[in-house]
Amino acid sequence: MKEDFIWSLERQAIFMRCARAYFYLRGQDDAIARQLSHLQSLEAWTGNMIRKSLAQALAQCASNGQMPSKEELQQIALKNMRESWMEYLNGAWKEQPETNTNIFELYYGNGKEYGTLRKLPQEATDNAKQQILEAMDTFHFSPFIKSISELDRSAWSFPSKKDTFRIGDVNVQEPPDFIYREKDGTMTTLFWTLGNEERAFLRIRQACHKIFAMEKYSLPANQVNVSTVFLNDGGRGRTFIVTEGDLNTARQQILKGAEAMLAKEKSSQAKDDYPPRPEDSCQNCNFKRLCLDN
Ligand code: SF4
Repeated sequence: MKEDFIWSLERQAIFMRCARAYFYLRGQDDAIARQLSHLQSLEAWTGNMIRKSLAQALAQCASNGQMPSKEELQQIALKNMRESWMEYLNGAWKEQPETNTNIFELYYGNGKEYGTLRKLPQEATDNAKQQILEAMDTFHFSPFIKSISELDRSAWSFPSKKDTFRIGDVNVQEPPDFIYREKDGTMTTLFWTLGNEERAFLRIRQACHKIFAMEKYSLPANQVNVSTVFLNDGGRGRTFIVTEGDLNTARQQILKGAEAMLAKEKSSQAKDDYPPRPEDSCQNCNFKRLCLDN
């Protein structure tokens, strides 16, 4: 395996959806392809704003021992939204798309003046803002959050989005949002969701979170629980059973997927060997500018 190769669910999904899109994803020496590969849909941006704000709230609580109030949580989220909007307005995403916001619906808008300043319909932005603020409220009142607040803060851990672990000789980047140690010594991984995850990938994601914690804390499988908190459903925490069989299935799927991607990259670097999909399936693709304009 190539040392710089990293498998992720997003990368696997793009590879399965369209070979041409995968070609563009890998073409990171092309400035436009780099910008496009980091476009977020408004829906994904909403989820990312929630994740970022909750991570900051918990980190603040870990350092000063106080869980932020409902108002403070909303201020954290509003500040993140404002900063993200400024990243779009000042065009920081053009040079540093990896760390600065641009939104699919803004980029494509109407017409072909890509990257010019645009606005989203007021209804769409109001709706995204409302979802984010409601998620903050739900987090504040969640019984699940109350129970982790009672644990020693040294039992909390905040994985970085870039943290990886190994499956065989493949680097995998699919960390949970948060990990904590229960009073009985077992670890629990957490993932915040609005319930809009692709079902096909959910089992692999859960297995990845479990393997991540097993590797990071050198724990056997029966010492790691995998939970998801549904922020659109009263902050209900749901713990999933991830069996040894599930772990093995996920490992095999990841190794197989990584092998197929690397074999494809090895066999050819020419764009024509990465065929496009029929045009009617391209509407929501980040790379459509590169396909439809040429
Ligand atoms: S626009 Fe269509 S053909 Fe082009 S990369 Fe996207 S999905 Fe593939």
